[in-house]
Amino acid sequence: MTETTETAVNGADNLKFCKHCGAKIPKDAVICTACGRQVEELSQGNAPQPQIVINNDNNNVNTNTTNVNVGGMGGKQCNKKTAIILCLLGFCGLGGFHKFYEGKVLMGIVYLFTCGLFLIGTIIDLLALLGKPSVYYV
Ligand SMILES: [Zn+2]
Repeated sequence: MTETTETAVNGADNLKFCKHCGAKIPKDAVICTACGRQVEELSQGNAPQPQIVINNDNNNVNTNTTNVNVGGMGGKQCNKKTAIILCLLGFCGLGGFHKFYEGKVLMGIVYLFTCGLFLIGTIIDLLALLGKPSVYYV
C-alpha cells in the first residue's frame, strides 16, 4: 500500500469507503459491493508476488557421443569391452566375432575360418582394442 486514497478507514480496519458511492466495503475489495465500480487497481491490494521462475534446467548432458559419419568409414559406434570379449573368443577357436561386431563381415569370415589368422590376428586386434577408448568408432 503506497497511498491510501480517500479510503478513510475508521475503526474497522478491514473496511474502507468506496470512493464512488461512499459505501463501506471490504478493504481488499477491488469492485465496490454497493455500486459495482472499480475502486482499486487490480495490481494493488494483495501485493503481487514476484513470479520468480527458477529455470533449473541443468543441461549438462555429455554430448561426447557425436554420431559423426567419419568420411566413408561408416562411423559405427563400438564398445571396447564388448569388442574385447568377442576378440577373446578367438582364443577359444571362435575368431573374428569382434570383426563382425565392428561391421567388418569379410574379415570376420576370414578370421572365423582361419581361427583369427592363426591367433596372430586375434592377438594384434586385442592389443589394438586395449589401446582404444571405451567407445570407439570404426
Ligand atoms: Zn461504490
